[in-house]
Order: sequence, then C-alpha cells, then structure tokens
Amino acid sequence: MHLEQAMKEQLIVFDTTLRDGEQSPGASMTREEKVRIAKQLERMRVDVIEAGFPAASNGDFEAVKAVADAIRESTVCGLARALENDINRAGEALRGAASGRIHTFIATSPIHMERKLRMTPEQVVEQAVRAVQWARRWTDDVEFSPEDAGRSDPDFLCRVLEAVIDAGARTLNIPDTVGYNLPWQFGELIRTLRERIPNSDKAVFSVHCHNDLGLAVANSLSAVLNGARQVECTINGLGERAGNASLEEIVMAVRTRQDVFPCDTRLDTTQIVPASRLVAGITGFAVQPNKAIVGANAFAHESGIHQDGVLKHRETYEIMRAEDVGWSANRMVLGKHSGRNAFKTRLAELGIVLESEEALNAAFARFKDLADKKHEIFDEDIHALISDEATFAQADRYKLLSLKVCSETGETPHAIVVLSDNGEERRAEADGGGPVDAAFRAIESIVQSASDLLLYSVNNITTGTDAQGEVTVRVNKGGRIVNGQGADTDIVIASARAYLNALNKLMSGEVRAHPQVTP
Ligand code: MN
Repeated sequence: MHLEQAMKEQLIVFDTTLRDGEQSPGASMTREEKVRIAKQLERMRVDVIEAGFPAASNGDFEAVKAVADAIRESTVCGLARALENDINRAGEALRGAASGRIHTFIATSPIHMERKLRMTPEQVVEQAVRAVQWARRWTDDVEFSPEDAGRSDPDFLCRVLEAVIDAGARTLNIPDTVGYNLPWQFGELIRTLRERIPNSDKAVFSVHCHNDLGLAVANSLSAVLNGARQVECTINGLGERAGNASLEEIVMAVRTRQDVFPCDTRLDTTQIVPASRLVAGITGFAVQPNKAIVGANAFAHESGIHQDGVLKHRETYEIMRAEDVGWSANRMVLGKHSGRNAFKTRLAELGIVLESEEALNAAFARFKDLADKKHEIFDEDIHALISDEATFAQADRYKLLSLKVCSETGETPHAIVVLSDNGEERRAEADGGGPVDAAFRAIESIVQSASDLLLYSVNNITTGTDAQGEVTVRVNKGGRIVNGQGADTDIVIASARAYLNALNKLMSGEVRAHPQVTP
C-alpha cells in the first residue's frame, strides 16, 4: 500500500437496505431474511447496518434484535423518532449488539414543523436535544438526522445541529428526503454546514440521498468531496419510489477514482455481487441487466472493437475488473462427491448457521439431490438451498409432495399436484395457460387463499442450462403482501415451491418485520 493511501481518511459505509430499502412496497422481509442479509453485509465489511425501526412494530423490534444478536463485526443501528419511547425500544432491541447505534430524527423544514409536528422551531430544537441526550443513556454512538433538511432554513439547520452535537450526537446525517437536490448544490450545503457550525469537527457528516431524479449517487459523491465521511446507501439502490443511493456504485466510484477522492471505504468489494443477488432474490426486485456494477451485462463487451481491445489490453475499455466486485468469486466449491463435513465447513465460511443437527442433515440431503442434477455447486446455489431449507424448516401447513405437469405444443397445459395439508395428503388437477399457471391453479384449488399474484419472476442462480432457477412470487390478500421463493433445476417445481412458500406465509399470519398495505 502506498503511503498516500495509508493516510487516506475512512469513508464510513452505512447500509440501510434492511430499513429504508425494506420500505419499498413489496420488499418487506422476515426476521430470518434480515439476518441472512445482515450476515452478508458483515462479510462485506459494511461499517454500519441499519436493521430497522424497532418502535414501528413488534416484528421490526424482533428483527432488529435478531440482527443485533447475530452481528459481531459491524455496528448495528436502530431508527427512532425523537421520542423517549421510540428510543427506548431501539435501545432494548440493540442490547445484544457488539456495537450498537441509535439513529434519531426530527423534521426541521417549516412545512414539516408547522403541518406535521405542530411545533415551533424552539420546541423542535429542545426535543432534538432531549432525544439525543436520552439516546446517549443507551449508547455513546448516536446519530441525528434533521428530516427534510433540503427544504430547511440553513440558519435554523445550523442551530439545531450545533445543539445536538453539544448534546452528544457523533454523526449528523443530512437527508435529501425527496430526491430534489442537484450535486453541486448538495455538496455546497454540506460544505456550508461544516464551515458555519462552530463545533462541526466533533461529528461525522453523513448523507442520505434518494434517487427521484437519478442523482442519489452523484449527490452522495459531491457531498463526500465536500467533507461528508459517511454515506447511507442500499444494495442495488433498493428503496422507496426510485430508491436510495446504490452502495455498489458509491463504493466502486470512490475505489476506482482514488485519484480524486481523499478517502476510501474498508469494504471487501468481492462480496458485492453475492450481496446483490441475495437481496434481489429475497425481495424479488430483479436487477436490470445494464445496471452499473451488478447488472448481468455490466462487464460484457459485445462490439468487436471493444472485444479486440480488451483481449489485447484489458484497460483499453475496462475501468474495473469484474472479479474485483465478485463476478468470478463464483468459484466452484462442492460437487456430488463432497461429504457432509465439506458441506458444513462451506456453510460456516458463508456465515450460515443451522440451528440443529436435523436442519443440517436435511440441508445436506437436499444438497446431495441437487449435486445429482447439477455438477458444480456454487455459493449462490448453497444460499438458495438454505433459503429453501429455511422455508421447509418452518412449521408450514402446506408442503409439496409431488407435481406432474404436461406441456405439449397444441395442447392445454395440465398439472396434477399432491400437497400435504398438516400431514394429510390432498390432490388436485387443473388446466392453465402455461405449465406454471396450471400448477398454481391446482395449488390454489387446495389452499383457497383467494389471493392475487402481484409478481412472478425467474432468475438463473448461476450460468448454464443445468443452473437452478430461483423463482420469486409476490401475493396480495386484502392489502397484506408477502413474497415467496423457491429454487430448483426444474423451474416449474421451483415456481410451485415459491408459490407455496408465499401462501404458507400468508395463511400463517406470520408477522412480517415491516407491515405494509397496498397504496
Ligand atoms: Mn430515506
């Protein structure tokens, strides 16, 4: 490492996939899913993981607690309004964290103070200070956000921020809540705040940008050039509306342009693509092929001139290496001759902990089945297998016993399905527009969920025609939305598994971390 690099300041990566990302309609996650994503973020060396909003619901409280208990290497953060009760819930959820942070916020724009909070500016300053002091009773690591900072009076913003630094806030997060800022303006705002607030050197400045104008990453980078040392972002840019700033784009822009940035992150970038896949699979939000860094085509050179150039000298057309962001970290790890011990070791390396010996045995049996159908078992396959295993480990009411589908040119597709309904075998047949439709109709005729299918997507987990298909379905019943996943080398079977996974969640009334209703 060059001396210059060694002396670079650290840019703190604050991932909010599990909190803000989860707020995108349909992206809500179960506690177990949140823990799995958090483990991957920890493996990637994300500095701070915002795990949820504990006061929002019991489900969210339990999810934040589970993440705090499971994560050792990253700081785990809980969001709280500037209210004692919210802060106490966050503090309690984070009790088991190796390093816990409370993130509290209150709106500072005239419109929010008058219309939403019905408070005077003086009352807002007082409450912000009280909240930070209260949070400090739980932890030294307190972050404060003035909500709607972009539309707040800069003088007032300086006053609030100076007061909360004195009260003990270590991180000041400036959100562009509605995605309205332009890069040079936003950078200017950060510079102004740092220059005008007398005690600004006692806190880390952070930014939280939304992508409504496609500028979330540009605004974040502009802020970094003007002194921000924490960026709040999400995997794949997941988030409400057009999403949050994308973690992978910010991290790789800073890493690739070290000639420009005075700081760098401590991220292991080879974990980016696995993280992207895990989040896409769990939420059902597929990544567009031309998405920077993590899109399937991000490193594909098609034109003859480019291919020729890359073959002669890679740097003619490539500014980053695909393997540096994890595209070929996709190493083959196991095959049909791998034993139980090798399987268990690999699970441990991937940070996957199975609760019991039975769970391990069941997962190993499914691994062997898969290895019979597919020669090379990649890390992604193991993740999918464990997702499925987690699904099966639940005390599900319905289980798929067998599925037969006939699909032939000129004929109506027909499916015969046998399910176990609390141990009792039930059989149904149905026609459909296609094999998946026929299978779903047969399943629905047994379950009778009366739900609507909102989304159906298939992705190949790895490449090749023997790859596993990972299917995500999203169903809605009376405003309750749940996702289901299934993976198999046969995509019709994967589809049936995904559909049953969703219906089991729907019928069990399982509390999701972040309850949502359709708009
Ligand atoms: Mn946000």
